[in-house]
Amino acid sequence: MTLVLITEILKQVKERLKSVIPSPKYELIVEPIQVESVESGKVVILVAGQKQAQWLQEEFLQELIRAFQLVLGEPCEVEIKVAPSTELKSAGEEVSSSAVPLSEVKAIKKPRPLLNPRFTFENFVVGDSNQFSYAASRAVAENPGSAYNPLFIYADVGLGKTHLLHAIGHHVLSINPEMSVVYLTSEKFTADFIEKVRAGKMNEFRLRYRQCDLLLIDDIQFIAGKTETQMEFFHTFMSSVDSGKQIVITSDAPPYDLKGIESRLVSRFASGLIVDIGSPGIETRIAILQKKAELESVTLPEDVLTFIAENVTTNIRHLEGALIRVLAFCNFSGAKCTLEVARKVLADMLSVTKGKRLLTMEEIITAICEVFRVPKNVLLSKDRRKKVAEARMLAMYIAREQTNLTLAQIGEELGARDHSTVSHGIMKSAILLDEDPYFKQLYQMIIRKLG
Ligand code: ADP
Ligand code: MG
Repeated sequence: MTLVLITEILKQVKERLKSVIPSPKYELIVEPIQVESVESGKVVILVAGQKQAQWLQEEFLQELIRAFQLVLGEPCEVEIKVAPSTELKSAGEEVSSSAVPLSEVKAIKKPRPLLNPRFTFENFVVGDSNQFSYAASRAVAENPGSAYNPLFIYADVGLGKTHLLHAIGHHVLSINPEMSVVYLTSEKFTADFIEKVRAGKMNEFRLRYRQCDLLLIDDIQFIAGKTETQMEFFHTFMSSVDSGKQIVITSDAPPYDLKGIESRLVSRFASGLIVDIGSPGIETRIAILQKKAELESVTLPEDVLTFIAENVTTNIRHLEGALIRVLAFCNFSGAKCTLEVARKVLADMLSVTKGKRLLTMEEIITAICEVFRVPKNVLLSKDRRKKVAEARMLAMYIAREQTNLTLAQIGEELGARDHSTVSHGIMKSAILLDEDPYFKQLYQMIIRKLG
């Protein structure tokens, strides 16, 4: 299997794991893993140290196997190996991106942000939905610190925020390799902050973030509710912008819709340029699939590409996910890549969304309550009993599939839950649907009820 394909598979596996393994265990133990090979029913994972290997083996082996099976669409075993010491950085040592091949990690001498090599402007397909964000990102990359500061990019998941953020980093470094560029998620910022406070190394922390020329912060929404981190980020922000350094921030919502974030930070976020990315239309979706296939060095029949683009409309990550699933299946099983194969491999993903009218939240909630025999007020309450929690998760999943509501809106309708709870709920339902025949039966009953 090619390195790029492996990288994509690993990315999807990590996404699944992130929704089931709580922070900071996920960041410490799972995020830094690399994959050495995926061959004939076996996945070999590389980790940096004995300790991490042991943790993974003891605590998360089952989750790992499950996640790989789901992504590969075939049973597999997982072997965990410790990499020779120079190959991998240990957790937290540097901003990590699993997508960088080991050979490149080795080659980097001075600390550089590990940007996904594929997330460049060249690989970004521009269409109606993203041309404004793209143009703003390019402008910032060409003139950091002067065009728009901060640049704030928001969009639903899987629409290209991280891609643009990395692209800015690549571009800035390609023009001036001496620039110091830091890329990280707000979760990593928080984790690093907590750790440096504990170790009494706040000076090091401040130096790192306040003195870099370009600070790329991904998914800022995750600092919601973290008051001390927000305060530190506020100072980082002020000191960077004041001294002409560029900040780019991404988020799943516009600044004024962010909950749990101090108002002075919100108004700073809004003080530069705010751009958003919408859902791509069919032409853009086809162009993205073509680009992706080209990057994998595979040629796929036209009808397979069109089939995927017509049927996967939610976001680009799902679009790529569908393509990768088809490619991985063909690679793994040796089958030829035809429309029939694509249909079969993607059947579970597509069966329900095709050609149906959109449902209302009210209809979904009513059906869920009937089938699970849970009263509506209990469904919307804080009740965490297994049955109730599962009913709620499934309601989230079906809402995502059958309505046009955003994660935040779905959460709002289901008892004022936040978007990350909804996102976890959807992921967990997807896993249960794959694994628990009873859960799947309930799901089918509900879908039938909903017509
Ligand atoms: P987000 O950060 O908004 O959740 P990502 O930036 O991770 O989304 O994008 C999800 C996937 O979709 C990535 O693999 C990315 O390369 C791809 N992608 C998103 N937008 C585009 C685009 N316009 N052209 C090509 N690939 C894209
Ligand atoms: Mg992202």
